[in-house]
Amino acid sequence: MFNLILFGPPGSGKGTQSEKLIARYGWKHLSTGDLLRSEISRQTKLGKAAQTYMDKGRLVPDEVVIGMITSALDENPDANGFLFDGFPRTPAQAEALDEMLQKRKEAISVMLALEVSEEELVKRLIKRGQTSGRSDDNNDQVIRARIVEYQTKTAAVSDYYKQFDKVVMVKGEGSVSEIFERLCMEIDNRLN
Ligand code: ADP
Repeated sequence: MFNLILFGPPGSGKGTQSEKLIARYGWKHLSTGDLLRSEISRQTKLGKAAQTYMDKGRLVPDEVVIGMITSALDENPDANGFLFDGFPRTPAQAEALDEMLQKRKEAISVMLALEVSEEELVKRLIKRGQTSGRSDDNNDQVIRARIVEYQTKTAAVSDYYKQFDKVVMVKGEGSVSEIFERLCMEIDNRLN
């Protein structure tokens, strides 16, 4: 089984690249952002609680997203691999994920970390806000809050995986297909 974490700040292209990777490798895509937005659109209790954080650009509490990922792993016992997108976003989430995988006699294969300059990130998020319909992409203050959450809470997740030598930096600027080829090269080097 191949278990990939696609890592990077908001706007680094995780969602776009995840779709292409899933199409090529057939893994199960687990995006906590997508799972949360689905809870919100179904107006579940979890969704309503999560929305108050997401609207402010804040991270949803660890126990909520950890619970969602635990269920998703349980629901997909036959997957040939998982692509984690937007998770883990705190060191506590990373430790919980390692434990969940260990219980299944699995482990993270690699973390591919997309590197994009802050200037480019803000540009992309504002542009996405014009078409995505996502309210958190439509407000400068919320975009800035998400970047601060990334810097203060999420950036440390790559340090967590660095201690196990699992982090590979990938240049996240250029065309979508150039970035995709860079990611595939790193994955193909590690398959089998
Ligand atoms: P982006 O990467 O562009 O910020 P996402 O769809 O991954 O978009 O996340 C949208 C929002 O959902 C985040 O700003 C955060 O509020 C919430 N969220 C997503 N994943 C997590 C997570 N693993 N932990 C906490 N909050 C999360």
